[in-house]
Amino acid sequence: MNAFKDFTDPVAHAGPALAPTSDWSHRFAELGQAFFTEVRPQPLSAPHWVGRSTRLAQEMGLGETWLNSEQALQALSGNTVLPGTRPLASVYSGHQFGVWAGQLGDGRALLLGDLPDSRGQRQEIQLKGAGLTPYSRSGDGRAVLRSSIREFLCSEAMAALGIPTSRALCITGSDTGVRRETMETAAVVTRVAPSFIRFGHFEHFSYQEQHGESAPHQALRGLADQVIAQHYPECLSSDAFPGNPYAALLQAVSERTARLMAQWQAVGFCHGVMNTDNMSILGLTLDYGPFQFLDAFDPAHICNHSDTQGRYAFHKQPNVAFWNLHCLAQALLPLIGEQDQAIAALESYKSVFPAALQQLMRAKLGLIDADPQDLDLIETLVQLLAQDRVDYTIFWRRLSHWVAAMTGNDSVRDLFLDRAAIDAWLQRYALRLAAQDPVQTSQTMLRTNPKFVLRNHLVETAIRKAKAKDFSEVATLLTLLESAFDEHPGYDAYAAFPPDWASSLEISCSS
Ligand code: AMP
Ligand code: MG
Repeated sequence: MNAFKDFTDPVAHAGPALAPTSDWSHRFAELGQAFFTEVRPQPLSAPHWVGRSTRLAQEMGLGETWLNSEQALQALSGNTVLPGTRPLASVYSGHQFGVWAGQLGDGRALLLGDLPDSRGQRQEIQLKGAGLTPYSRSGDGRAVLRSSIREFLCSEAMAALGIPTSRALCITGSDTGVRRETMETAAVVTRVAPSFIRFGHFEHFSYQEQHGESAPHQALRGLADQVIAQHYPECLSSDAFPGNPYAALLQAVSERTARLMAQWQAVGFCHGVMNTDNMSILGLTLDYGPFQFLDAFDPAHICNHSDTQGRYAFHKQPNVAFWNLHCLAQALLPLIGEQDQAIAALESYKSVFPAALQQLMRAKLGLIDADPQDLDLIETLVQLLAQDRVDYTIFWRRLSHWVAAMTGNDSVRDLFLDRAAIDAWLQRYALRLAAQDPVQTSQTMLRTNPKFVLRNHLVETAIRKAKAKDFSEVATLLTLLESAFDEHPGYDAYAAFPPDWASSLEISCSS
């Protein structure tokens, strides 16, 4: 035992390294040179921890000790390259705000490789904000502290709500200055997902290969084959599309995307920038920018200040996702062959989305079986919530408590202007629930309707403190959001109505 080395070498204190070198692989790199450029991360000056998810570290089998180590801080800031990793930026294209934008790519994210998590599933690790890449275009390759805090907290909040998402292991902050509207500082988020492949990757190679740059559809086929083999093996023996795994893939992605949209709508999540390059081929929530959890329920709410036309307004999300799936279908058409097959593959979106949403809304209402009248019950409620701009999260939480005794409507009806209408609705709802055990129903609803969501004003407060080097609020929010269905006595202020200043927050694409 070398006492001196133990004392001086941070790695020696780091506990287990980020898994043995031999555990790293790079499945994405196996796609071939056409898919990426290898890039060394650009160091950050004076890196420090801003937030860490111990929960994700455990799920990744990394151990808390490693996540607290100097080795981790340096590596996850992009200041050193972990042995066994191979940082690269991938190339993709996409439709932005409905218009073909041509080549984009990872302008500030570097994919290190993939590791098996504690369940043996391979997870890719990406550093977002690690510097310039060949795809940075006019950008600086950086991500500012505020947007990194938003992405970190929202990724973990969504995961805790059971909504498919890329994850975030940590954020490191720095003194490195970056210019946006004002001078800010750079940060890096370590993102984790089974794959970061986007619709835009397929669009990129489909477009390029239609314009004759390489062998017909070789890269496109390679990409589709890898995605199927690794993530959708069932597509190789699809009953709906025998012998056409690519049509089966389109159908499977359509269905996952439909279910994701249903989850977003049910929880009141507005993504803000649903460009095709932000759409995950695995149906994950990806690329957190100007997202928002609704405060008052306004179906037409636009959370992205840069979205002047409201293309990505809350109520348009399910249709936009379907539009984006048509872009994916177009990209896959050379592999699918028959246009009819592509159209048939997209078709299931139209039934899966409404069925999934109805199921989720029934669950929010605590209904354990289905009744033909439920749709009308839900629609009447949604209209009332919209008409009176009722706070979406608070309504569901109060309803969940109310169900236990169904006496004294006040906590719920106080949220509405039209008291007669909500009283009538509550009466109808109580009748519908008559055959169910009220206490049990209430308990189930309290596990379905979160008490805490990442409202804009909450994350804004955490950002303001973090800019003054106080990261305690980031940690507090992470703790609350990781168990968002629990009551957390003493933290009711985090589940309260937004303050007046929240409505003046303007979140744009600037990040
Ligand atoms: P987004 O709207 O964040 O999905 O970004 C769209 C495209 O712009 C992607 O190719 C990003 O990698 C790239 N991008 C965004 N911000 C930056 C930046 N600061 N530096 C370089 N590229 C960026
Ligand atoms: Mg993006």
